[in-house]
Order: sequence, then structure tokens, then C-alpha cells
Amino acid sequence: MIDYTPEQAMAERLARRPWPVTLIRNDINVSFEFFPPASSDGFNELTRCAHHLAPLNPDFVSVTYGTGGTTRERTHATIRGLIDATGLAVAGHLTCVGATKDVTASVIDDYLDAGVRHIVALRGDPSAGQTDGTVAGGYRNAAELVAAIRNHVEERGIGGLQISVAAYPEVHPRASSAKADMDNLKRKIDAGADRAITQFFFDSDTFLRFLDQARTAGIHAPIVPGIMPVTRFSGVVRFAERCGTDIPAWMHELFSDLDDSPGVRRLVAATVAAEQCRRLAEHGVTNFHFYTMNSPELTSATCRILGVIPRANRPAKDNERSKVS
Ligand code: FAD
Repeated sequence: MIDYTPEQAMAERLARRPWPVTLIRNDINVSFEFFPPASSDGFNELTRCAHHLAPLNPDFVSVTYGTGGTTRERTHATIRGLIDATGLAVAGHLTCVGATKDVTASVIDDYLDAGVRHIVALRGDPSAGQTDGTVAGGYRNAAELVAAIRNHVEERGIGGLQISVAAYPEVHPRASSAKADMDNLKRKIDAGADRAITQFFFDSDTFLRFLDQARTAGIHAPIVPGIMPVTRFSGVVRFAERCGTDIPAWMHELFSDLDDSPGVRRLVAATVAAEQCRRLAEHGVTNFHFYTMNSPELTSATCRILGVIPRANRPAKDNERSKVS
């Protein structure tokens, strides 16, 4: 009997999976999500990450925003820093719970004045100890926020603003039902959102079913899968519990003893994320939003396996696609 090392055993297990030949594709669009770092070292690390990923020609990169404005200044500084350092199209996330309408309007103005033309409009979560988080004189949900942003840019005479909203293939944990959650997504699109980006998930069929249900519900805007390559598995498990994301049994099997083997974990994580994307791509999905955790390697490897390679090495396209699809 062959005495496999854990690495060889893992490679052997992965090799048993069906794996179509990689083709360099020019119809896949990617976007990358970052969080605002808390220190200048963190910002330097993020800039390195953005420079590493920029040649993949993302439609946009986005910067998250703390509920109740907890990261307002940092989000801003990060957005400005990324625009200056990379020239990429940067989307600013904006949450509305815990803020009055005036405060929200001033954040929107700050974004617009910084040249941001894409906002990811969110309700956000209540702070610890709050049950709901809505404040008097604030927006109650993301649909109200989307409508307000559309009014605001119209009043300022600014055109071409893109709005993305959140979608939940496994249903938002606070939603009263899957139907109520879908109706809520439709309200956000009807209020003026251009696309939805999903919460992360690991079962590709869950996303494909959700997409079908959304189309049946009359939602025809793009719904972009949110892809989370696994960093520390124990952290992903905790985060998934809070978000209502199911972690399939096969992932526990693949990752549970790899927290202290970062090299093997990264190889497995890139393979799993790429496999997830490729299955979606086989079903016609061409846009992918990556939760990068401000670290480029896993996302970059996943994109490569998916056929997205740095711009300079890509075959010429018949028509250069627009920056935001
Ligand atoms: P909505 O669209 O208003 O609601 C979504 C669903 O949740 C609805 O079914 C609604 O009924 C239900 N719901 C939400 N809150 C309540 C409540 N209090 N009571 C009853 N039902 C409720 N969070 C951040 O803080 N910063 C970010 O930058 C950020 N970025 C995100 C990006 C993406 C792509 C995604 C998927 C999520 C992001 N989130 C972020 C998390 C998001 O703020 C939470 O999931 C939040 O709970 C719901 O926001 P929403 O915009 O989807 O809300």
C-alpha cells in the first residue's frame, strides 16, 4: 500500500474530480471586494493587493462600509487612495441603518465628489444590542436607500451612476421567508438598482436555483455570484453561521484539518473556488465578484484557472466590453 503524505492524499482526492480543459476565455468579467484597512501598513498591503489584481481588468473594485458609519473615514480614505494608486473604477459600499437621511446624503456627496460612480447600497446590520437599528429620520431598508440615491444624483444632475444591491441565495437570516426576501430584492431593483451581488455561498446549485427563482419573480437585472475563496476555514465557518451560508459536508472534509497547513490550504482553496466558478460558468454565468479579504493570491489563482489572465496576455477582444456590465 502506498504511504501518502497528507499533501499527496489531497492531490489524489482532487484529481478524481472531473476537470474540463482550461481555455483562456474573454467573456468572463470579474470584480473584487476589499475592506478598509485600519492602519497605514494595512493600506500598503491593500495597494499591493489592488496592483496585483488590476491587470485582470476588473469591471470594478469595491470597498466595504461599517454599519452606522463606523468606517466612514477609512472607507473614504481607502476609496480615494485606490483611485489615485490604481485608476480602477472603485465602488463605495454604503449602509443606511444607524444614520439619519442627512448623514447618508453627505456620504453620497463625498463619494460623488471623489469621482465614485458606483455605489453598493445596503441596509447594514444593527449594532450589538440593537434589535433593528433603524433611527428616526433614517432609511429603513436598502430599497429606500436605492430610491434616495437615484433622487439625489438626479437633483445634482449627475448621470451614469451604477447602483448594486445585495442578494441572498440562501435567504437573509432575518427575512420572514424566502418569498419575502425575493420580493425585497425585486423592490431594490425596481427602485433603481442595476445589479445584485450575492452573499457568498459554496454550493453552486444553490446559486443556479436562486437565479431561476429570481427570473421567475420578474427580476431581470444581472445577479452576480459573490465568491469567497477560503482563507482560514474556522473563520469562514463562523462567518457563514452569521450569514446563513451553508457549508457542505465535503468542504468540512477537505478543509477541517488544514488551518495549520497554509500551503496546502491555499492550493485546495483555489481549486475549490475555481471549480465553483467553472460550474457556474458552464451554466452561462460570466460575472464573478470576489471577496478578496485584501489578499490577492487566492483570488488571482482562481481567476487564472477560470481563464481570466492579465490583460497584456489576453487574446484581443472583438469589442472591448464596457467597464461595468
Ligand atoms: P435589505 O435589502 O434592506 O434587506 C435584506 C433582507 O433582510 C430582507 O429580506 C429584509 O426583510 C431582511 N432584514 C434585514 N434587516 C432586517 C431587520 N432588522 N428586521 C427584519 N428583516 C430584516 N454590511 C455592511 O455593514 N457593510 C458592507 O459594506 C456590506 N457589504 C455587503 C455586500 C454584499 C454583496 C452583501 C451580500 C452584503 C453586504 N453587507 C454589508 C451585509 C448587509 O449589510 C447585511 O446582510 C444586512 O443585514 C442586510 O442588508 P441589505 O442591504 O441586504 O438589506
